[in-house]
Amino acid sequence: MVISVASGKGGTGKTTVSTNLAWTAARSEPVVFIDCDVEEPDSHFYLKPGWKEESEVKVKVPSVDSGCCDGCGACADFCRFNALAAIKGDVLVFAELCHSCGGCKTVCPGDCIDMVDRKIGIVKSGRNGDISIKQGLLDIGEPMAIPVIDSLKSNIGDGLTIIDCPPGTGCPMIETVTGTDYCVMVTEPSPFGLHDLSLAHEVAEEIGVPHGVVINKSSEYDSLIDEFCLKSDIPVIGRIPFSMEMAVICSRGDLAVEADPVMKTRFEDILKEVKSFAEATNNTQR
Ligand code: SF4
Ligand code: SF4
Repeated sequence: MVISVASGKGGTGKTTVSTNLAWTAARSEPVVFIDCDVEEPDSHFYLKPGWKEESEVKVKVPSVDSGCCDGCGACADFCRFNALAAIKGDVLVFAELCHSCGGCKTVCPGDCIDMVDRKIGIVKSGRNGDISIKQGLLDIGEPMAIPVIDSLKSNIGDGLTIIDCPPGTGCPMIETVTGTDYCVMVTEPSPFGLHDLSLAHEVAEEIGVPHGVVINKSSEYDSLIDEFCLKSDIPVIGRIPFSMEMAVICSRGDLAVEADPVMKTRFEDILKEVKSFAEATNNTQR
């Protein structure tokens, strides 16, 4: 079973939920935890893994042999991403824009292009007890998170996997949530939270991933989210109350489930809900 934890925007408590869920699940079974928030991964503050391995994530980009190239411009004309420019008989490569399709190499009449490796980030692996942790980190200035996310998702195994998604509803979030069995959407009871939740809900509907909502900083304003969820037929599977104690626990980098028995019970209930919804949906689809 693969559970993704997403939020329409940053700062809603997505990593708080994903890491506490991972700790809760690991009391009864081994868990693979994948941090796909590759621009700013922070799950390690809570899960505190001992890192064991690190590998580079590379993509293929064109390298033009200037001795061979006659500047015909066919490669630049082909590239839809403006990653190549043919200027005065020379070809400039803007590697950050390249999507590694290899089309420029295919159309070059003189076979003057080689596809070469370019590092864009790293993937680290570590462990804390029964939680195996994978975390990706995109190099500073790199615009494309997808290859790092794909590299991370190749670690999904047969057991329980919990994935911390990138914030927002752009390509990195879609790539991460796609193919998961259930998406936990973390939101907060505010107009901003509601707006971004509605976008995340649309994305999940479009890609066909069952989902439910956890309201973080739950308060007397929950009705804002409850009404939307009722209207959109989305289950609210948990609430984490707004409290100073919770804020202090998180700011120390501690897990709420370890520090507070009430939170432990809440997360056990959320995990039960997630598993029963995911299993019921899978059974219906079979
Ligand atoms: S590999 Fe594709 S995306 Fe990259 S420069 Fe060539 S044509 Fe453009
Ligand atoms: S298609 Fe080949 S020969 Fe033509 S500009 Fe590009 S690299 Fe040079």
